[in-house]
Amino acid sequence: MNMAEKIASKIEARRESFIKLSDQIWEFAETNYTEFRSSELLARTLEEAGFAVNTAAGNIPTAFTASYGTGSPVIAILGEYDALFYLSQEKGIAEKRPIKQGGNGHGCGHNLLGTAGVAAVMAVQELLDEEQFEGTIRYYGCPAEEGGAGKVYMMKAGLFDDVDIAITWHPSTGNRVISQRIIANNRVTYKFKGRSSHAGASPHLGRSALDAVELMNIASNYLREHLIQDTRLHYAITNAGGCSPNVVQQEAEVQYVLRGPNMSVVQDMVERVTNIATGAALMTGTTFTHSIDSGTSDLVPNKPLELLMYASFQQLGVPQFDQEEESFAELIRSTFSKEEKISEKALADTLLPYEYDSGIIHGSSDVGDVSWSVPTAQCVTACFALDTPFHTWQIVSQGTTSIAHKGMLHAGKVMGLSVIELFRQPKIIAEAKAAHAKELQGKPYICPIPDGVGIPSVTTEYSLI
Ligand SMILES: [Zn+2]
Repeated sequence: MNMAEKIASKIEARRESFIKLSDQIWEFAETNYTEFRSSELLARTLEEAGFAVNTAAGNIPTAFTASYGTGSPVIAILGEYDALFYLSQEKGIAEKRPIKQGGNGHGCGHNLLGTAGVAAVMAVQELLDEEQFEGTIRYYGCPAEEGGAGKVYMMKAGLFDDVDIAITWHPSTGNRVISQRIIANNRVTYKFKGRSSHAGASPHLGRSALDAVELMNIASNYLREHLIQDTRLHYAITNAGGCSPNVVQQEAEVQYVLRGPNMSVVQDMVERVTNIATGAALMTGTTFTHSIDSGTSDLVPNKPLELLMYASFQQLGVPQFDQEEESFAELIRSTFSKEEKISEKALADTLLPYEYDSGIIHGSSDVGDVSWSVPTAQCVTACFALDTPFHTWQIVSQGTTSIAHKGMLHAGKVMGLSVIELFRQPKIIAEAKAAHAKELQGKPYICPIPDGVGIPSVTTEYSLI
């Protein structure tokens, strides 16, 4: 048996238990720092398998690490398990039907994401023993990827300080190794204060905080034209100052997500939008405060690691789907709009070619921050019908199908094989570190979350990705 076959057979041997784990997390559908049951389930599974578990890692209640082996190299596999707000959906149907109105759902497939990592580290654990490799395999239970920047706080707590390499993946509609730069972002809250008054009898005495928010948004929309390509600016009015038109609104709040190719572009955007807020306050006779609540960095690609992951993927091939799965994917695709439906096929059946540093993805992830600290590589596997848009009921519905399970187990194998090759060929680790150092030469890491800003309140409802 070659190494790819060994990894695959170890994961297949526990196939049913990993599927159960993932489906259970899908049922929990816990969001943003409330992933208590999901993290406990994953941590317990690894503890029972003989891993040394550190719960509430970095003083983050739903973060944990689980290590096996001793000394270096330390290879990390990153797992996530958070769901999204308002995406409650019944499983396995091609029709929008929430289980609970206003409930949560796994609209980004993180039930699969976290479980594939567990499958990978458990397979690697066995091989470390069998082949007597030196080093440590460590699973990172990372909470709140969806807007909570869990990994940034884990980094701040020093949890990645002794890590040599990080490997991860994301459930997707296709198969490939990612070498694109996801964009950096900050979430900034602007709170305006004015003076209330009777809007009919004495409007001249009022100073409207809502006017300030509206003027700020108009000016920010004008700003768009004068921002570089690959920036993004979006906002939500999170407090409109009440629901009475006849009371001049004395308070109002707007949250901005500002994204750019790197943190210094984002910082410049924050400054320009804050200047706009100053202008809006002057125009309306109001005052404002602002705070940077969250943020994540752009992704640093790593060619040696990505090539290793691509070679592992090539050896293992792609997930194979049967006719019944094709038919279900077709049914899901029948719910897409014409403009969403691009592919000819229902399910991916090829591995897309690898291309180093191939453009920008206009989404954000806290994996970006890990990639500034540690050489990092990630792949995606086919878990959903082609063209399925993320953060939708269709992703939630597909999250427990045999298609999703196959994609998940396959990702576990690709990651597991890549990690084992790192233990077998330490020179790849050295190459990855050299490429990382070269890429970051003269580019200091700018932490997107200012010191003193703690993990967000568990009731905060938002999503960055
Ligand atoms: Zn995601």
